[in-house]
Parts: sequence; C-alpha cells; structure tokens
Amino acid sequence: MASNSTSVIIVGGGLSGTLTAIHLLHYTAKQGVSITLLNPTATLGRGLAYRNNDNDLLLNVPAGNMSAFANAPSHFMEFCQCIDPSVNEGSFMSRRLYGQYLEHCLTEAKMAHPGRLHTIVGEACEVQALSENGGFTVKLLSGHCLATQHVVLALGHQPPRFPLPLEPVERDWIIDAWDFDRLNRLPSGLPILILGTGHTAVDVLFHLTKRIRPCSVWMASRRGLLPQAHRLSTNPPPTRLSPAYLGAPPLRTRELMQRLQEEVARQAHRGLDWRDVLNQLRAHTPQLWQALSLTERQRFLRHAVAFWDIHRHRLAPQAAERLQSLLAAGTVQVLAGRLLAVHKASNDSLALEFKPRGQKTTQTLNVAAIINCTGPNMTVGPDSQPLLQQLAQDGLLVPDPSGLGLQVNDRHQVTSAQGSAVQGLWYIGPMLKARYWEAIAAPELRLHAQHLAEDLAIQLAAHSTSSPRAASL
Ligand SMILES: Cc1cc2nc3c(=O)[nH]c(=O)nc-3n(C[C@H](O)[C@H](O)[C@H](O)COP(=O)(O)OP(=O)(O)OC[C@H]3O[C@@H](n4cnc5c(N)ncnc54)[C@H](O)[C@@H]3O)c2cc1C
Repeated sequence: MASNSTSVIIVGGGLSGTLTAIHLLHYTAKQGVSITLLNPTATLGRGLAYRNNDNDLLLNVPAGNMSAFANAPSHFMEFCQCIDPSVNEGSFMSRRLYGQYLEHCLTEAKMAHPGRLHTIVGEACEVQALSENGGFTVKLLSGHCLATQHVVLALGHQPPRFPLPLEPVERDWIIDAWDFDRLNRLPSGLPILILGTGHTAVDVLFHLTKRIRPCSVWMASRRGLLPQAHRLSTNPPPTRLSPAYLGAPPLRTRELMQRLQEEVARQAHRGLDWRDVLNQLRAHTPQLWQALSLTERQRFLRHAVAFWDIHRHRLAPQAAERLQSLLAAGTVQVLAGRLLAVHKASNDSLALEFKPRGQKTTQTLNVAAIINCTGPNMTVGPDSQPLLQQLAQDGLLVPDPSGLGLQVNDRHQVTSAQGSAVQGLWYIGPMLKARYWEAIAAPELRLHAQHLAEDLAIQLAAHSTSSPRAASL
C-alpha cells in the first residue's frame, strides 16, 4: 500500500470539484499549495450532468447564466461564440459542450499554476481522521492511501432509491436513469414506465424515443406535473434586491407560497411574466429557506415542492417543444398517481399496480421495465456509497433531518456528530440543498466553490505560518 501526502484532496471531479480546484489554485498561488483532484474517470468537469455525448440534451439554464465564474458572466457565452458566433446570452447550449467548457477552464487554470494540480483516476472508499496533528488519510478502492491536511467532498449525486420494497427478481427490471447501456438494450415492442416526470424523466424519454423507439411510454408521478418551459429571451438578469413583496422572510410555507402567488398575479396584471418573479427570488431563496423551521420545511416538501420544481426548474424552449410533440403524437402518456406494487408477470414483462390520483380503484400496467427517475437520494444510509456510510459511522458527518443532504456550516465545513465543524473536512455539491435549498445548479454551485476555496485558502495560510510541518505536506 503506497502512501504520499498533499495539502488538499478534492474527492470528485464533477462541476463542484472542478470549480473548487480552479478557485483553490488561484487563491493559494502564493503558498504553492498542492491540490489533488480524485475522480473515477480521467475526463473531468463532466460528473452526472455533463457526461452525455448527445447534443440534443440541452442545458436548462441559458448561456448567459452558465459561466463558471460569477464575476465573469459572459465567460461561457464567449467560449460558445468561438464555436458559433450566433450564440447569445439567451441561447440554450448542449450539456456535452458545457462539460467540455468546464474541462477547458480546468486545463487553463492548471497551465497557469504549473505543477500544483495533480489528478488521480480512482475512487475514495474511506476517509480517516488522524488524531495527531490533524489531517486525514484517504483510502482508494485500489488499496492506495493518500495523506492530506484537507479533504473536500465533492461526491455529487447518489442514484435514486426505489419507492417500494422489491424482491431480488423484480429488482433486475428497475433501470437507473443514467444507465444508458441498459436503456439501449430495452425491447421496443412493450410499453415502458418512466417513474418521475421531472427533468431526468424528460431526458430519459428523449433518449428512449431517439434510440429504441418503444411502442409506448408512460411517465408517472404523484401529481403528473411536467416542467414548465423557459422563454426565448435575452432579458438582463434580475436585480439582486430583496423582493419588496416578501417583507420580512415569511415563517410559514403557506404564507410564503401565498405571497408568491399574489405577486405573480400582480405582475400578470401588469403584463409581466411569472418567470421574472421566480428569477428575482432565486438569490434570496436560501434566506427564505433558513427562516423556515424543520416542520415548515417538511410541510413545503409535502405540499409545495412539486409546484415549486416545475416552475423553478424549467425546460429549454426547444426541449419543451420536443416534449409537447411527443405528447401530441401519443408516444408518451403522463399519469398522476401512486405505484402500489410491482410483480414479475412473465419472462419479459412486469405487472404494475397503479392507483390514479383521486380514484379509489387501481389499474394494472404491463411494462418491459421501470426507469427510476424519482430524483437523487439525498440522505445518508444503507443505500449510500461506502465513503458516506463510513464517514457517518465514524461521526464525521451527519445527515440533515430534512432528508435533503448533509449538515454543514456556512463555510462549507462538515458538521460532526458532536455538532462542531470537522477541521479540514469540507463539502460542496447538491447535498448543500439541506442548508440553502437553492444549491444544485451551476449558478449557485459556482459561488459555493469560490467561497469554499476562499475559506480553505485562509485556513491553509494560517496553518502554514503556524506549523512548518503542515506547509511541507
Ligand atoms: C442531468 C442533469 C442535468 C443538469 N442540468 C443543469 C443545467 O442545465 N444547468 C444547471 O445550472 N445545472 C444543471 N444541473 C445541476 C448541476 O449542474 C449538477 O447538479 C452538477 O453537475 C453538480 O456537480 P457535482 O460535481 O456536485 O456532482 P456530479 O456532477 O455528480 O459529480 C460528482 C463527481 O464525483 C465523483 N465521485 C463520486 N464519488 C466519488 C468517490 N468516492 N471518489 C471519487 N470520485 C467520486 C463522480 O464520479 C462524479 O464525477 C443538472 C444536473 C443533472 C443531474
């Protein structure tokens, strides 16, 4: 088992890890800190969202708001314009291109800071805190161990959990939304159920109808609501001023949703669009979320989240049009209701018991497979990856009681089971949702990456002046 040491190890090279590495290179330039970016694949900046090569899968945020750097808003648009001069800030580019862009940003940062960024292809399975002098060892699946003063967890999304208990024989028929190899092997003669009606479900629908052309597809969720569409617009970004109609942050979900609806109605009366109301709210959502008690957050998750999500996370106009034409052609049918049971019906089909919303009786659907698009698992438990389970068992992290992620402080330091910040253990990624709610898209994560890197650099600087040993790590 080889061992070496470095100052910072970032575990995960998706958007969050990549942007953190870029900022950290910059903020620690004078100290010459060594940074290691660990990812299971050699291509960086892709993660779950930007790894697909399908040019038809589009970003759901216009180019003008997808810069990797909050202080250089047109950076991504200019990158695109080098390829296609007609791109403007309202254009919706492919996610494939965005992955290339992130990798390009990392390459530029690496070249600007030669010798300081190391990349390792591998997967971390354990992070152990060293009691003496602080620091950690990161164990990889390969058996290799790395020593470091700081670990940034940028592990991204966990696969969704299936909402029903399953027998092993039935489990084989449930396909992960991102398992394109299995999706491509599905037969075209039988219907398919996509469980979920959000963005991932729409992606899967597009993939299936392009690649295997199934005879019919059902998309099902409790309410059967589909994401709304963006406008094709080059409106300037909304002001960051706190929306006056909210007054002091509402303390109840009902009050929050009511004020929002009233404002949408007021703006509609003035001929303005509801999207502008939500766009203006975006920067203030963390504050609103933090003002809600745990009970109110749970109430929001029970009653309001489906409506919130379809309005807040919108489809690119081209994607919305494509979805509408599949609906109009009858290629896909949307169902609202609950999946109650799943049984193997024959060698090539499953029988599903489905209860339509508002009805007392159930219906049976026969499908070739269920594709699980119910959203990433945000909790830490038996279904989580081994690294998260081990950290939780060792008391080095604690899941948030809302079930939306991890407990961290406002510096992105992970909170221990004792309730204090674990010195040297940092987190960035979708599990920040527990603390900020609005924290899963690039415009938010780019700021979190910047702030985390700033805070980490301050700690490294303080440590290097007080501890000569740490400086040499
Ligand atoms: C399908 C999809 C489309 C999206 N589209 C948009 C969009 O259009 N606009 C927008 O603003 N946002 C979008 N988002 C949201 C946002 O950009 C993503 O949430 C973002 O990719 C999060 O990046 P991440 O690095 O935290 O996680 P991920 O992208 O999941 O990356 C995590 C990385 O860590 C690696 N990893 C995990 N565990 C380990 C381990 N133990 N050891 C080493 N490496 C590990 C993974 O392999 C992966 O490479 C989208 C998200 C998804 C899922």
